[in-house]
Amino acid sequence: MQALVMKESWKLEVEDLPAPVPGPGEALLRIIATGICGSDIHGFTGENGRRHPGQVMGHETVGRIVALGAGSEAHDLAEGRLVTVNPVISCGQCTACQTDAQQRCPARRVIGVDPALRSAFAELMTAPAGNLVPLPDSVPDEHGALIEPLAVGYHAAVRGGCAPGDRVLVIGGGPIGQATALAALRMGADAVVVSEPHPERRGILARLGLTAVDPAAGDLTELVRDALGRPTLTLDAVGATSTLADALAVTDLGSRVVLVGMHAPRVDLPAYAVSTEERSLIGSFCYSAGEFAQTARWVAETDRDLSALVDGRVDLASAASSFAALARGENQASKVLVYPHGAPDTATHPHPATTAAEENRE
Ligand SMILES: [Zn+2]
Ligand SMILES: [Zn+2]
Repeated sequence: MQALVMKESWKLEVEDLPAPVPGPGEALLRIIATGICGSDIHGFTGENGRRHPGQVMGHETVGRIVALGAGSEAHDLAEGRLVTVNPVISCGQCTACQTDAQQRCPARRVIGVDPALRSAFAELMTAPAGNLVPLPDSVPDEHGALIEPLAVGYHAAVRGGCAPGDRVLVIGGGPIGQATALAALRMGADAVVVSEPHPERRGILARLGLTAVDPAAGDLTELVRDALGRPTLTLDAVGATSTLADALAVTDLGSRVVLVGMHAPRVDLPAYAVSTEERSLIGSFCYSAGEFAQTARWVAETDRDLSALVDGRVDLASAASSFAALARGENQASKVLVYPHGAPDTATHPHPATTAAEENRE
């Protein structure tokens, strides 16, 4: 089977690897599409040190079950079933795991991050059956690959205690910012505004029915106050010194600021904006298994048109140049999906069972 292998920083190659065989408790998936995450880009450039040579990345995925290993029948799964994969593998035994906080499991491993785990920029992958979340066939296949980033946004809004009465600012309108803003709306926030400098991304936000402001158009505090009033909750989906400073400055005294973006491993912080003005600074990472499953249910049921979340589709052979263009900032696309068996608009080997659906989406 073909897979996209990270050879070294800035170098990805398509290689023929042995087809994986599902072990006990595992399933074999034929991958339909896998999203390129910002963390994959930072791994590709070597910036975050969280990806390694020889690794196959990919943690935002959707596929169909082609085989089940011994013991995986118990998980309500069957061959042919459309599934997404919760990439967080946890021990299941510790306090975090037993209270649906698997993202805090000290033994957690993440598919697509841990180089020892089979991951999703490949034609086939194996995954623990307990990490599969089945989707109804009424869901457009590729929306399954959006569940992981949407779950990151949902968890951030949950961590911020988002509720009716909140005026919410999201800083950064990339995939995680989009996901966070959609989650805040669905959790009943009174109003949500996204700050995003790139016009193309503001276009995506508009197509999703979200309000966006351009932080380059003036003083952010004033722009946000005009659009929203003083935020009671701000979610920083970038995670840099400047965006965190903005988040603290814009948000009302005594309010909450969630740090979910991972742009920089270290930031400087205006400490008095936390201490003397009593803002709560809250960290957010991944999601619990419950939140992931809940996000999958929402994707299956929502009336909101999620197709605006995808603005690029490539095959495996073109994926390396997409990574490079995204890393160099030449491509401002929000979410590019890699189709290991051929992208719908450049299809060379479309899956017989999904051809019609893929044509409908062109
Ligand atoms: Zn991701
Ligand atoms: Zn655990």
